[in-house]
Amino acid sequence: MTESATIVWFRNDLRLHDHPALTAAVKRGGPVIALFILDDAAAGRWKLGGASRWWLTKSLEALSHDIAQRGARLILRRGDTESILKRLVDESGVTAIYVTRSYEPWATGMEEKLHKSFGGSGVVFKRFGGRLLREPEDLRTSSGAAYQVFTPFWRAFRKEFSAPKALAAPRHLGSVPDAIASDDISDWKLAPTKPDWSGGLAEAWRPGERGAQLRLKNFVSEGLANYDDGRDRLYAEGTSRLSPHLAFGEISPAACWRAAAEASHQTHGGDGAVETFLKELAWREFSYALLFQFPQMPDEPLRDEFAAFPWAKSSANLKEWQRGLTGYPVVDAGMRELWATGYMHNRARMIAASFLTKHLLLPWTSGEAWFWDTLVDADLANNAANWQWVAGCGADAAPYFRIFNPVLQGEKFDPDGDYVRRWVPELQRLPSADIHKPWAADATTLKRAGVVIGKNYPFPIVDHKEARARALTAYDRVKSGKRG
Ligand code: FAD
Repeated sequence: MTESATIVWFRNDLRLHDHPALTAAVKRGGPVIALFILDDAAAGRWKLGGASRWWLTKSLEALSHDIAQRGARLILRRGDTESILKRLVDESGVTAIYVTRSYEPWATGMEEKLHKSFGGSGVVFKRFGGRLLREPEDLRTSSGAAYQVFTPFWRAFRKEFSAPKALAAPRHLGSVPDAIASDDISDWKLAPTKPDWSGGLAEAWRPGERGAQLRLKNFVSEGLANYDDGRDRLYAEGTSRLSPHLAFGEISPAACWRAAAEASHQTHGGDGAVETFLKELAWREFSYALLFQFPQMPDEPLRDEFAAFPWAKSSANLKEWQRGLTGYPVVDAGMRELWATGYMHNRARMIAASFLTKHLLLPWTSGEAWFWDTLVDADLANNAANWQWVAGCGADAAPYFRIFNPVLQGEKFDPDGDYVRRWVPELQRLPSADIHKPWAADATTLKRAGVVIGKNYPFPIVDHKEARARALTAYDRVKSGKRG
């Protein structure tokens, strides 16, 4: 192979547009060897969960197809990253490896190590941006520290920011010699088979860059203008649903920013809905900045006093929560939506997470782990930051004593009960006035709706008032610094 061939090592950047590392590799001249490595051991406890593995398979198939259309091949290898990269350098004689920066603790450590070890052997190992809008090091307080509160972070972020210009997808990538072997994606067996639970996921999503672009286009033309009102409604598709595409890097945050900002110009400049959407993209940036600053965030509370929180240990309650059998319809609807589609509405995530950590007093890390396994948009930074936010132990968190009432939340954000009816079909025939508290409905109403509490739908597993009081007592212990 020619000297100037470059390995582009793909990770959470499974796209060809708006890809600075790929653009630079093409510019360098010579063929591009597109490589993806599945290295479960490197991520340890945070290796990809089940739903993400399904998504990854589909996304790699799409990327492979797009690369083949440009005359090249996507090389797939599984195992230890450093050994694989070294072997491929030996096999191909390339002199440069280009990669998009990552921010997971294991990834940053690995990048440093590779940078040193390849640097010593004369191979250029170069990192590029593209996963975020702004690098975590760019935004600092006046004292030079990282932001820990979102509002000043957002103010600093927004100031004079405009997204970088779009980068076109390369037209040709040059062929890769047959001698460079690739695994077959089907041999990785990432998608579930026995049983195959992915039917609902396949129905709900189209993984891959094209699917991501369509999702963005539809959202900007149909959903964005109503985002301010629509985003909290549980039943309506009021949000973009771009999260799995962003998590796998099938679309860049810059492309999302540009599309929304352009729509803003078309609607007389700076309308509220657009600004709210841009702010959500910045929450993602904030989560990444926190993870970069606090690599322990997925495993440990950022507020030290929460290390002493007297979390409960009930595996029965955890199972009921996971299966959507808590007896609180809005919580159960969210958890079942998650199981069926790999996604849960943001409002439902907040309600379900609050219920786990406050009503059931179960550790936020057990919810985080379940979400990690079941979400198609599982994202280490966003997942950890949001769980800590809801649990009250994060850097800029909701106060622990703010405890959602699941009945009132249901009535406010699903007033007609449509979300519950969609995901908890056994309550389908209940009138809207009763659907968020079926245990309180009168006998005739329940009979007419075919609901037998305790038989085909559970009694609430905890009483709201009692649970609230218990949570506040537990929190008092933390505040006063008592253990256990
Ligand atoms: P939109 O409302 O259309 O927002 C656009 C994009 O902005 C999203 O795709 C996402 O990238 C970003 N965004 C929106 N809200 C947030 C937020 N609160 N924090 C960080 N970024 C945000 N999001 C994930 O991407 N992965 C996760 O693993 C994840 N886990 C979560 C766990 C809990 C307990 C909670 C409360 C929230 C979690 N979120 C997570 C954040 C949020 O729920 C999702 O990003 C959002 O629901 C995705 O839907 P959307 O793409 O339609 O969002």
